[in-house]
Amino acid sequence: MKNSEKAYVSTRNKNDRVTASEGIVKGLSADGGLYVPDFIDDIHFNLNELSALSYAELAKTILGAFLTDFTPEQTAACIDGAYNTGRFDAAEPVQLTHAGNSTFLELWHGPTAAFKDMALTVLPYLMTVSAKNTGLDKEIVILTATSGDTGKAALEGFRDVPGTRILVFYPQDGVSPVQELQMLTQEGANTDVIGVSGNFDDTQNGVKAIFSDEDFRKKLENAGMVFSSANSINIGRLLPQIVYYYYSYFQLVKEGTIKLGEPVNFAVPTGNFGNILAGVYAKMTGLPVETFICASNDNNVLTEFFQTGVYDKNREFYKTISPSMDILISSNLERLLYERSGRNADKTSDYMKNLGTAGSYTVNPEAFADFYAGFADEAKTMQTINDVWNETGVLIDPHTAVAEAVRRDYAKETGDNTPVIVLSTASPFKFAASVLEALGQKPAPDTNAAALPELLSAKTGKPIPAPLQGLGERAIRHTGTCDKTDMAAKTAAVLELSERSC
Ligand SMILES: *Cc1c(COP(=O)(O)O)cnc(C)c1O
Repeated sequence: MKNSEKAYVSTRNKNDRVTASEGIVKGLSADGGLYVPDFIDDIHFNLNELSALSYAELAKTILGAFLTDFTPEQTAACIDGAYNTGRFDAAEPVQLTHAGNSTFLELWHGPTAAFKDMALTVLPYLMTVSAKNTGLDKEIVILTATSGDTGKAALEGFRDVPGTRILVFYPQDGVSPVQELQMLTQEGANTDVIGVSGNFDDTQNGVKAIFSDEDFRKKLENAGMVFSSANSINIGRLLPQIVYYYYSYFQLVKEGTIKLGEPVNFAVPTGNFGNILAGVYAKMTGLPVETFICASNDNNVLTEFFQTGVYDKNREFYKTISPSMDILISSNLERLLYERSGRNADKTSDYMKNLGTAGSYTVNPEAFADFYAGFADEAKTMQTINDVWNETGVLIDPHTAVAEAVRRDYAKETGDNTPVIVLSTASPFKFAASVLEALGQKPAPDTNAAALPELLSAKTGKPIPAPLQGLGERAIRHTGTCDKTDMAAKTAAVLELSERSC
């Protein structure tokens, strides 16, 4: 594309310039870098004009500014398909809930009861339009590693979408029983789910290796297929997540908590850094955000990073009750490094090289002064679920509890009284066993996964979200497993790539 056009560039090579459509279809750049909008400084949203819009209209405006090679009609159709087809449980897809001093932005009212739905209901539409815009005539194979929520949301988003197939790898024993059952019962003729013996980082590394395997790519192409990604390394995953930062801000204005233009803070339970990075993009385009409270669980690699400037993945990996944040390599941090190094692709490349070789790199922490970072261990997470329930009658899941715990620490430590919006990323019913335990009713270890949401409902009187009802009656449709070293072979087998097609 021409240098004058509004492009996405690789964080590792400024000369790798693509359109939005190309970036969405490719997922990851050939050099391993992530695509970022080179033109973001040109976007300045007018708060006043946006403040009265419905969620879908807001999404059309915001995505319209980023999807520079989409027509307005294409963007609108993607948004309407995702948010105006009754897939969320209320007219507006997100909901702001006040609980005492806490404000939760509930992002889990979609088809799989986790915040991943906010983007993964949109991505298949973005992908289909992008394929058309780039003249792609091959079947798109979505290859995804999941820590639990992405997999189910992506399967649900792509199921039976013409011209696509989806293959999800998840770490066995690294997801909650309800999450696993949700995936294994997935319907759709174009879906495959495979359990990997390994942790999430192993699984993600396996998928990244397949993506960057040139021979594999050629084999696939000869068979009429191309890979793309539904992980948050895909820019099409990130863009829809910018919208709810704006939307929740405007809700606080409507409620009179703040005046238009006054700052807020966001507390975000963070794993792969996609959610919080969307907040950074919101801030860069005009949203008055003062501080991002980056919350981690025992896998607190990001806490150390923001506090000291040292990113070091050489540490013990913990399996926690907030599995979607059990991550040692936080992929989207690369995009923040790029922005905060003055968009220096060479520097970003060097950081990532060091991460690959030594497992660590060091930055100047001053470039990240608008981040506060903290973590909650397992006991504190449990206690926070219990406290919020007892104090307010609001039930939160372990991921949300991690963010709330760190928000409470932040308030105590700083005395800052800027309003904080806590991003609530999953329904507590998705993590029913842990939530029950936090409420003092630990279920027996052999309790059937499908029965857990019912036990939690009986305990709290809260209704089970529709997507999690009757899980026990659904047939198991996926039984495939593989070792973490065999993911490429497994992928070839599932896609029926024979040696002949080389
Ligand atoms: C994915 C996920 C997170 C982490 O989000 P990132 O974008 O990876 O930082 C937090 N909570 C839940 C419930 C999730 O599914």
